[in-house]
Amino acid sequence: MRRRQLPSAVVSGALSIALAAAGSSAFASKVSRLTPPSELFASGSAKPLIARFLPGQRFDLQATIQPDAGQTIDSFYFSVDDDTTNPAQYRPSAGVTYPLADRMSMVSESASPATCVDGGSGKTTGKSGCKLAAGLPGNTVVVSQRAYSTFTPGVHTLKITATQSDGTKVTATGNFEVFDLKTNGNAGAAKNIIIFLGDGMGATQRTAARIMARGYAQGKAKSLLAMDSFPYSSMVMTSSLNSIVTDSAPGMQNYVTGNKAANNQEGVFPDDTLDAFDNPRVEYLSEYLHNLQGKSLGVVTTADVFDATPASMAIHTSARGNGTGIVDQFLDDRSQTGLAVLMGGGRKWFLPNQSDSISPQAANGSQRRTANDYVLPDDVVAGWNVARGKLDPSRDLIGDFQAAGFAYAPNNAGLTDAFSHGVPNKLLGLFAYSNMNVAFDKIAARRGNSAVVDAFGFPDQPMLDEMTDAALKVLSKNRNGFVAMIEGASIDKQAHLMDTDRWMLEALEFDRAIAVGKAFAEAHGDTLIIVTADHECSGAAIIGAATASATDLQAHQNAGPSIVGTYDAAKFPKYTIAADGYPVSTLIDGKMLIGYGANADRYETWLPSTFPTKDTQQPFPPAQSPADPNVRNKDIGYFISGQVAGDQAVHTATDVPLTAFGPGADAFNGVIDNTDVFFKLAAAATTH
Ligand SMILES: [Zn+2]
Repeated sequence: MRRRQLPSAVVSGALSIALAAAGSSAFASKVSRLTPPSELFASGSAKPLIARFLPGQRFDLQATIQPDAGQTIDSFYFSVDDDTTNPAQYRPSAGVTYPLADRMSMVSESASPATCVDGGSGKTTGKSGCKLAAGLPGNTVVVSQRAYSTFTPGVHTLKITATQSDGTKVTATGNFEVFDLKTNGNAGAAKNIIIFLGDGMGATQRTAARIMARGYAQGKAKSLLAMDSFPYSSMVMTSSLNSIVTDSAPGMQNYVTGNKAANNQEGVFPDDTLDAFDNPRVEYLSEYLHNLQGKSLGVVTTADVFDATPASMAIHTSARGNGTGIVDQFLDDRSQTGLAVLMGGGRKWFLPNQSDSISPQAANGSQRRTANDYVLPDDVVAGWNVARGKLDPSRDLIGDFQAAGFAYAPNNAGLTDAFSHGVPNKLLGLFAYSNMNVAFDKIAARRGNSAVVDAFGFPDQPMLDEMTDAALKVLSKNRNGFVAMIEGASIDKQAHLMDTDRWMLEALEFDRAIAVGKAFAEAHGDTLIIVTADHECSGAAIIGAATASATDLQAHQNAGPSIVGTYDAAKFPKYTIAADGYPVSTLIDGKMLIGYGANADRYETWLPSTFPTKDTQQPFPPAQSPADPNVRNKDIGYFISGQVAGDQAVHTATDVPLTAFGPGADAFNGVIDNTDVFFKLAAAATTH
C-alpha cells in the first residue's frame, strides 16, 4: 500500500482529533456525505434501510469528499455490490446499457461534468458555476453519478472510491434496497392512480368536517363523508429525512418517490452545493410510470401551483420557494412526467416580468425573477435527459403552455369554455395570482356576497370538485392511464392561521372533490384512489361546542373558555347544509369549537372572521385582511397564549389517516411509513 503523506500545513482541531482517534495508520481525508442516505454510512448499522427504489427507478449517486490538506481528488468511481458480479445498468429505456466497469472508466476520463469543485481550488464545473456550501475545506469535491438504476432486487452495497493526488484511496460504504415487485398480487390492475392530498388534514380535520357536513344523532354519524366511505385504511407516519415534523415538500414527495427528502426539498436528496437545482435526484412516480407505460400526470390544487405539494409531484429542487424555476420545470420537463393537467392559483409566476424586479410590485402581478430560476449543470442535463433551463423573468409562460398544446382557463367560465369544442388534450388553469380564495369566500360569492373574492381580484374561481371533474375528463383521454394529485391545500393554510371556520369548509370542499373522484373510480374499475394528508397542522382538537347561541357569541366576543361546552354540554352541533353542499352559516347556536395544541398567540372570539387573514404570497393582498392571528380580533377577542414562537400554528408529527378505494386498495392497512405508500401505488400500477 502506498504510504500517504500526512497533512502538514492546515490541520484543524477536528482533524487532529480524528487522526489521533484513528491511530498512526489513519489519514484525515474522508467522505463526509454519501447519497442515497443510509444508516450504514451514517452510523455503521445496516438497518433500518433508508433508501429504497423500484426496479429501474433512477436516482443519483453522490459523495462529498474532503481530501487531505494540500491534496486534491484526481479520480473516483462508484460501485454497487461487487463490481464484477453486479453489472448494474442504466435503464434500457434510455437505449444504452453500460456495464459498471465501463461507467467507471467513463467517469474518470471525463471528470469535469460530474465533479463539483470549489472555485478556489482551480477547477470549476457546470455552466451554473458549482459552489460548495460554507464550512467545507476548500479542496472538497462533490462527485456524482447521475440517473443510476438497477433491476436487481434486494439490498445493495454502495461504495465510493476516490484517489487523491498523492495516490491515497478514500472510500466509504452505504446501502440501499431495490424492491421485488414480482410477488405483487395486484399487478397492473390500477391503470389510473388518484392521490387526494388534504394538506394538513389530520384526524381532527376529517372528524370536524364529518360533524359539520353530516351531523350526529344519539352518538352516531347520520352518514359518512366520501373519504370515510373507502373500504381500506392506514395510519401513516409522516416524518421527513431530517425531522419528525415534516413540511409539505417531503410530506408529499415521500409518497411519490419512495424516499425521504429533507424539509423544503422536492424530488432530491440533500447535498453540499449551493445550487438549489443540482441536488441528487430521485425519480418520481409520475416520471417512472410515464417512461414505463406512457401515463399522463395531472396536478390540481387550490394553492399556488408552485407550492410544495403540487411541485412535489414533478419538480426537482432543494428550495421549495423557487417559484420561477418550479413552474418552468413543470412545462420544460413535461416529456419526463407526462404533464397534461396543471390547475390552481399561481399566475404570478407565469406572467412576464420585464424588469426582473418586484420592488416596486410588477404592475401585472408577475413575480418571475432570475433569483429563483435555474440553469442546470451539464451532468444533470445529460444524465436525466432534461431541459437545461434558462434565466428568463420576461418569459410568457402561459403563452408557452398554449404553444405546447395546453388549453388555458383563467377563471371558472374559462374552464367551461375550454370544453366547448370537446375535451382538450391538455389543460392549464390559473385562477388567482397566488393561492386561490378558500371555499368559505368562494361560496359566499356564489351566494351573492363577493366582497372577499372581489378584493383579491378574482371573482369567478372554480370549486375544487369542478376542477377535479375537468381534470379527470382530460386525463382519462390517455388510454395508458394517469397519475393525478388533487390537493385541498388551504385546510393547512387556514389551520396555520387558526381560522377555524375557513379550514372546516376547506375540508368540506375537499370531500366534495373526493366524491367526484369516487364516482369516476366506480365508473372506471381500473382506478386506485387514496385520500390522505402530508401531515397534521396546528394540533387541532375538537374540544366541544358553544354553550351560547350565535347571538350571544356575537354579543360577548371575549367570553373565552366560559362558553366552551365540554363533555355532555357539547351535545351535537347541528349545521344546516344548503343545496350547494356547504353550511348556510358556520355561526350557529351551539357551534363546534376547536382548540389548538401547536399554536402561536391568538385572540379568540369563536366567530368567523369577515376577511381572511393576510396571505403573504399574494402580490396584491387586500387591505381588509388582518395581518396575522396575533393581531386579529385584538380588541374583541380572548387572549390565548401559544406554545410556539411566531404568529402561526405549526405542523405536528402526529400520524395521519389514509383511506383507499379501488384495485390495490387492500394493500393499505396497518401503520405504514409515508415512503411505503409509493411502493404500494407502484405495485398496483405495474407488472414485472
Ligand atoms: Zn403547512
